[in-house]
Amino acid sequence: MFSAQAPHEAVHKFEHQETHVRGIVAIHSTALGPAAGGCRMWHYDSEERAIEDALRLSAGMTFKNALAGLPFGGGKAVLMLKPGQVLSLEERQSLFRAFGDFIEDLGGIYVTAEDVGCTPNDMAEIAKRTSYVAGLPRREDAAGGDPSPWTGLGVFLSMQAAAKHVYKAELSDLVVGIQGLGHVGMDLCTRLNEAGAKLLISDIDSAKCARAATLFGADVVACNQIVGHAMDVFAPCALGGILTEQSVALLKARLICGAANNQLATSAQGRQLAKRKIVYAPDYLVNAGGIINVSAEYLGESVGSVEQRILQIPDRLLRLIGDSEASGEPMNILADAAAGKVIAQAYRSKVA
Ligand code: NAD
Repeated sequence: MFSAQAPHEAVHKFEHQETHVRGIVAIHSTALGPAAGGCRMWHYDSEERAIEDALRLSAGMTFKNALAGLPFGGGKAVLMLKPGQVLSLEERQSLFRAFGDFIEDLGGIYVTAEDVGCTPNDMAEIAKRTSYVAGLPRREDAAGGDPSPWTGLGVFLSMQAAAKHVYKAELSDLVVGIQGLGHVGMDLCTRLNEAGAKLLISDIDSAKCARAATLFGADVVACNQIVGHAMDVFAPCALGGILTEQSVALLKARLICGAANNQLATSAQGRQLAKRKIVYAPDYLVNAGGIINVSAEYLGESVGSVEQRILQIPDRLLRLIGDSEASGEPMNILADAAAGKVIAQAYRSKVA
């Protein structure tokens, strides 16, 4: 069985002379196709932390793409901003053009798109130098554009289906806590608000909290209190590693379903959640909408094909919940096993 601990195929280092921004492109697996995964630009405490993030995120992409049935392997790019570093528009454009040259030189083993800290405009700069990029403005009924609303749609539909199973209730009867009001978090809030859910929100950016509070009548919760707050569903939509041994012990929600990548600090938290009878919707299963859109854009497929694939996510989740209830195995272990099977088969047919 192929596991998340499998070694990476390659790690490439990038440096932009003008801004001194350094970066990493981690290629975890190309068994199913070119390694596809977004580019994250963030402030890191150290280069080690950035490398660790790139390695974990790219491994997650291998599993996400496999489980979504996409012809792509897993990769991820991380660009490291220095503490307090703010780029001017010119510097930013120059950085992303240079990063585009770097991706071009990798010869097609890595396909990028936006992730935390990046925008469709950044992808447009990359596209001036390479075609190994998606997340560009849409053309007619072809797939394309910001992947975030598609991610939001997949998470929303998954939450709706899982909430019916766990609570035998509609979202309009439930309180949902959303951590992170970025591109996906705000989209999810909009959908949940339309569905009539009561929202609790939290973000390190108080302006975003104020906006969401006004738009959705949501209650703002302090960042360090959202995880353990009384709520029915917790939706992590900020950064990874939020579900630690300590935070899982505090959870009151019986369902976790959010967009953030790598929500479990370690795989052991999957077992801890199962023991506490908290249903964990595996992050890479429910947040695949964005990469499904990226994949369709890259392959020249239609918007309809994106919708069709995203509509399959909730059923996949419900099957996994059923398997977990029947076997007692944690959700993350079952998701890894299902994706691992697809990847192992691809490796086998490569060597056959
Ligand atoms: P974003 O950069 O637009 O938003 C992230 C938000 O989280 C920001 O508002 C930031 O202020 C907030 N935040 C950071 N640390 C926080 C903390 N400790 N507490 C509360 N808020 C905090 O990013 P995004 O595109 O919305 O992505 C959100 C998450 O979903 C990320 O983990 C990303 O990897 C994952 N994801 C995104 C997509 C996509 O299509 N954008 C697809 C799959 C997975």
